[in-house]
Amino acid sequence: MKKSEVLTLLQSIQYPGFSRDIVSFGMVKNVDVSQDTVTIELTIKTKNDEKKQAVVDKIENKLSQYFKQVDIQIIDDGPSQGPSAQSPQSPVQQKFNLDHIKNVIAVASGKGGVGKSTVAANIALALKEKEFTVGLLDCDIYGPSLPIILGFNESPKMTQDRKIIPFDQYGLKVMSFGFISGNETPVIWRGPMVSRMTEQFFNDVTWGKLDFLILDLPPGTGDIHLTLTQKLRMAGAVIVTTPQDIALADVRKGADMFRKVHTPILGVIENMSGLQLKGTVETADGIAQKDLRMVFQGIDKEVTTDEKGNFSFLVDLFKSGGGAEESERLGVPLLGKIPISMDIMSATDGGKPIILSDPQSTVSEIFRDIAVNILSQLAN
Ligand code: ADP
Repeated sequence: MKKSEVLTLLQSIQYPGFSRDIVSFGMVKNVDVSQDTVTIELTIKTKNDEKKQAVVDKIENKLSQYFKQVDIQIIDDGPSQGPSAQSPQSPVQQKFNLDHIKNVIAVASGKGGVGKSTVAANIALALKEKEFTVGLLDCDIYGPSLPIILGFNESPKMTQDRKIIPFDQYGLKVMSFGFISGNETPVIWRGPMVSRMTEQFFNDVTWGKLDFLILDLPPGTGDIHLTLTQKLRMAGAVIVTTPQDIALADVRKGADMFRKVHTPILGVIENMSGLQLKGTVETADGIAQKDLRMVFQGIDKEVTTDEKGNFSFLVDLFKSGGGAEESERLGVPLLGKIPISMDIMSATDGGKPIILSDPQSTVSEIFRDIAVNILSQLAN
C-alpha cells in the first residue's frame, strides 16, 4: 500500500466531536510505509487524553486490516495550549441570529497597522482552501481595509425583503462596514449607532451556512468589541501583534478583555517578525550564479544561491523577538510568525492576498500553518 492510499484511509477518520477528519485538521504530520509496517506521526494538541486515545484506536482499527504493525507516534510540537488554561466558557446571552454560523473567530490587535486585516484575509482563504465555508466581516469602521485587500469596491445588493447580500470574492462571503460607509468617508460613530450597525451585520446579512465567520475587529478595545463580545458567543479570538509590541500592555489588554467575557484566546500571531530578503545573482550577461556562497556581514548570514541564482533568507530585526516566551508568559499560544515581506505588501495592496497571488511562497505556507494551528486550538 502506498503512502497516498494510507492518507486516503486516514481521511475517513473523524476527530471526536467533529465532522472533519484528522488529515484536514492537520493532525497527521507524517506517514511512513515500509513493507508490513506503517508509521504515523500525529500532533494532537489537546489535553484530553481520552480524545487522543480515541484517535489512536480508530487509526489502529482501520490500518491493522492492511498492515501487520501499526506504529503511531504522537509528537509534541509546542507547549500544550489547551483552553483549560483560560476561563471556562460561560453561557453568554446570544442575541444575534447565528444558528447558521458554526464558529465565529475574532481577529484583534492592540493598535492599527500591525497587519491584522492582511492576516485575517489570508487565514480566511487558508480555511477556504481546506474546503470550509468561510465568511469575512470587516468591522473596522474607522479604517475598513477589506475592500482594498480583496480588490473590489461596490455597494452591496439587497434582497427584496431588504437583507444585505454579502459579496462572493475569491470564494469567501465578504462584508465590510466600508461597503456601507464608503471608503473615502471618515466615519464618526457613537456607541449606540455602532451597536445598531453591528447588529445589522449579523441579523440582516444573508450569510447562509458558514463553518467560520472571521471578524476583522478594529484595533483596541472599544464599542464594537463590547457589543460583539456581549451579544454573541465566539469560538475564540486571535491577537495580531508585531514583535516589538508583543511584550507591551496592548496584547495583555486584548487578552484580558477576551478572558473577561469568557472568549477563549486561540493565540497570538507575530506579524512583521523579521525581514524576508530575496534576490538573484547573475552576471552582466544574465548568467545565473548558482552555488554562490555569500556572507552578509553585520547580520551574520551565510546563504547559497540555487541553480537559478536565487537566494532568500530571514533577518531578525528585533533581537529581543521572544514571541514564544512572551506569549507563554501571557498564557496565550504563539500561532505563528510572519516575516515582513515585500510580496505580502504588494499582494495585499494589490487586492489579491498572497495565498492566492503566490500560493507556493514560504509566507503562504506560514498562513496555512497558522490556519491549521487555529483548527487544532478549536479542536481542544
Ligand atoms: P491593520 O489591519 O492592522 O491596520 P493592514 O493589514 O491593513 O493592518 O496592513 C497595514 C499595511 O502593512 C498594509 O500596507 C499591508 O500590506 C502591510 N503589511 C501587513 N503585513 C505585512 C507583512 N508581513 N510584510 C509586509 N507588509 C505587510
